[in-house]
Amino acid sequence: MQHDLECEQLTKTFGTFTAVDQVSLNIEQGKFFSILGPSGCGKTTLMRMIAGFEQPDSGDIRIKQHSVLELPPNKRNVKMVFQHLALFPMMNVEQNIAYGLRCSGVAKADIPAKVKTALDRVGLPGAGSKRIGQLSGGQKQRIAIARCMVLDPDVLLLDEPLGALDLKLREHMKVELKQLQAQFGTTFLYITHDQSEALVMSDQVAVMKDGRFEQVGTPEELYHRPQTPFVAGFVGDSNQWSGRIQKVSKQGVEALTDNGLTIHAQNAGNEPLQVGQRIRVFVRPEAISIATSSQSGRKAARTNQLRVRVDSKLFNGANSRLLTQSESGQAVEVDLPQRGDFAALTAQEHVDLNWSAAQSLCFAHSDDDNDAE
Ligand code: ATP
Repeated sequence: MQHDLECEQLTKTFGTFTAVDQVSLNIEQGKFFSILGPSGCGKTTLMRMIAGFEQPDSGDIRIKQHSVLELPPNKRNVKMVFQHLALFPMMNVEQNIAYGLRCSGVAKADIPAKVKTALDRVGLPGAGSKRIGQLSGGQKQRIAIARCMVLDPDVLLLDEPLGALDLKLREHMKVELKQLQAQFGTTFLYITHDQSEALVMSDQVAVMKDGRFEQVGTPEELYHRPQTPFVAGFVGDSNQWSGRIQKVSKQGVEALTDNGLTIHAQNAGNEPLQVGQRIRVFVRPEAISIATSSQSGRKAARTNQLRVRVDSKLFNGANSRLLTQSESGQAVEVDLPQRGDFAALTAQEHVDLNWSAAQSLCFAHSDDDNDAE
């Protein structure tokens, strides 16, 4: 398997602070790889080391199997798209794209054809004479990408390039970026704190926290099989409850939440769990069903069941999110499809919820651990 980019045990400190801590990653040729994490977790520092703007304290960076640690940024065949795109406002579109070609010594006579091909490939044929100020936000994004791709990089680095766009355009550009990446077939390394961007666009995502990778996987793996409480809490929405284990069996655990709910759950962490241990439980709002009265009576083994009162209903397009509470004070959020038996549910009604133990993921949790808050 060919890797376009490999980082091995990369570490970067600033004084006594470790911004990137022994991070390793391998990106296969032509894949869309995202690094997802909260502000300050070290994403930009990692990307700046790959681009050559920051020197690691230790570790190695290989592009197409060759170490680039000794090479300055302009000798590494990577290009970077920044959040603010850094297009030259005094130049027109064609001049912006041609600039890098001129700097890298491409023969003058070959430049117009390369610029034309780049504009065609990003879907803006004939836009060469436009000024940057005449372009929409989405068009500017495409020109920023064309300007990099015309140089045929081994890896394109994208540092939150959709961050400055409004919500609607960002949604549109997610799809467009993914399509452009597939069309160019170039390896993309994308950093973001927005989980929906990472999940929609990526082949693989690394979730980063405090300078380290918590988990690397496909979007589906991260969403359905988080391996740490941080990933479970950061990727997607979840009900999150703390509690204490009462029973452990081959089938999973039974725990009592701090709000008095007895819950059947499965251990999603790597450590075995024991009776008396504190845990954190994660249940997706869409994993919870509202039971009809006939279902309420038939409770399968290890199904979680809870009677709640609907406190409010938040309309969200295809779904509504119900904010509910049990008699013992356990708050539970549930997604309710717009169509179905319970679409007309309103606040103050009482309903029975159920969900399986397999959809209640739990992890060992210490009380000073605020990972999932
Ligand atoms: P954001 O999403 O907010 O850009 P990030 O995940 O990209 O955050 P970095 O910019 O990599 O995070 O910063 C990681 C940590 O390293 C932060 O605590 C930051 O303050 C620190 N840091 C980054 N660059 C320097 C520097 N040149 N000197 C000192 N500390 C730095």
